[in-house]
Formats: sequence, structure tokens, C-alpha cells
Amino acid sequence: MLPMPGVCWLCRLPLRLPQHGICSLCLRQLPALPLLCPRCALPSRHPHLPCGRCLKQPPPWHSLICVSDYTPPLSQLVRRLKFNGATALRAMLARLLLLSWLQARRTRAAPRPDLLLCVPLHKKRLWRRGYNQSALLARPLARWLGCEYQPHGLRRRRHGAPQRRLNARQRRRNLRAAFRLEMAVQGRHIALIDDVVTTGTTVAEITRLLLAHGAASVQIWCLCRTL
Ligand SMILES: [Zn+2]
Ligand SMILES: [Zn+2]
Repeated sequence: MLPMPGVCWLCRLPLRLPQHGICSLCLRQLPALPLLCPRCALPSRHPHLPCGRCLKQPPPWHSLICVSDYTPPLSQLVRRLKFNGATALRAMLARLLLLSWLQARRTRAAPRPDLLLCVPLHKKRLWRRGYNQSALLARPLARWLGCEYQPHGLRRRRHGAPQRRLNARQRRRNLRAAFRLEMAVQGRHIALIDDVVTTGTTVAEITRLLLAHGAASVQIWCLCRTL
């Protein structure tokens, strides 16, 4: 399906506010998230308290905000963003992420970040795809929030084996030396943007790197979190 200006990405009906990319009906009908732990964003009985897993072994980040589980229609739109960086699609998905953050801010006082960074792709993959899908989200978000976005703040050093073929320990080893910080982050409140968070290993490694360099807080913003 090719992007068409002025129609909803899901139902193809004309939009009153074309820049939104999704109509209010489709927005309301997006699958609701279950109650999620504010820290790891996995299902939990208490939306305001860290879950049992986080009490035992919390992830390094301070909070994780997601729009949806990795299910349709969001999963399909995210896949499309990877292969078709259409401006209309990226603005729509970035807006959904902003709405999720605003809700987290209202319900559990999620702090306002002053710096946006995105999970970097390796040069080779970036070259093949032509763009980093997380960076497509970061630009409009930085503009709307009036905060800094550093597209080259993080660098991916080695290509590494595709993460999905590895077990948890191999993933960590594969990732440990994979990222390099290219800027000072002392005292900064950072939102790290990724399109999809599955195990969380990648964002956890980057968070550790940012905290080791003095970042004041790190929150993870993603479109889909596999629940
Ligand atoms: Zn619609
Ligand atoms: Zn948790």
C-alpha cells in the first residue's frame, strides 16, 4: 500500500487533520495495553509500582514507554517504516509515541527529557537501508518537545551476529562492546528511542553506557514492546 496524503493510514478515509496520519476512530481502536509495570513495561498488576521482576533485578533504565504490544496494526506500520520512511508515516508514529509519553507524564510523572538519542544502526545496515528508522521518529519528537536531538550521539561499532539467533548470554557478549558514546551526557535527562523493544538487551546496554558517563536519567521510548 502506497502512502497517500490526507487519508488515514489504517482505514484510508480522508482526514480532517491530514498531518495526524490516523483518524480519531482508528486511534481509539488501537489495541489497549494491559496494565504494565512502569519500569520494565511488562504486564503487571500495579501500574504505579515496580513489578516483582523489577524488585528482584531492575533494568538499568528508569522507565519504559511504549505505544503498543508487537501486534497489528502497529507492528505492520513499524515494519513499513523500516522499508518505507514516508514522511507521513513517521510523523504519525512519532505522534503516537508523543501521546503515550504524555499519558505516562500525566499518570506517573514521567520526567521531561532534555536530550533525545536513538539506537544507532551499524554503518553497513544504515547504508543498505538509507536511514535509521528510530531517527525518523526522533526528529519530529525533538521539535515538538523543544529538546535537543543528537543524531550522532551514539555509534555502533561492530556489525555483530543478528541478535535474534543468539541466546541471552551471547546477546550480552555480542553487545557489550558494540556501542560508543560520542558526546558528553553528564547530568542529562535522556530519552533513548527505538522502534521495537523485545528482550531489552540492546537498550539496557546503551543505558548502562549512558549512566556510566554520568547521565542523570534514561527512559526508553519505543513504538512496540513485545509483551
Ligand atoms: Zn482511520
Ligand atoms: Zn517491571
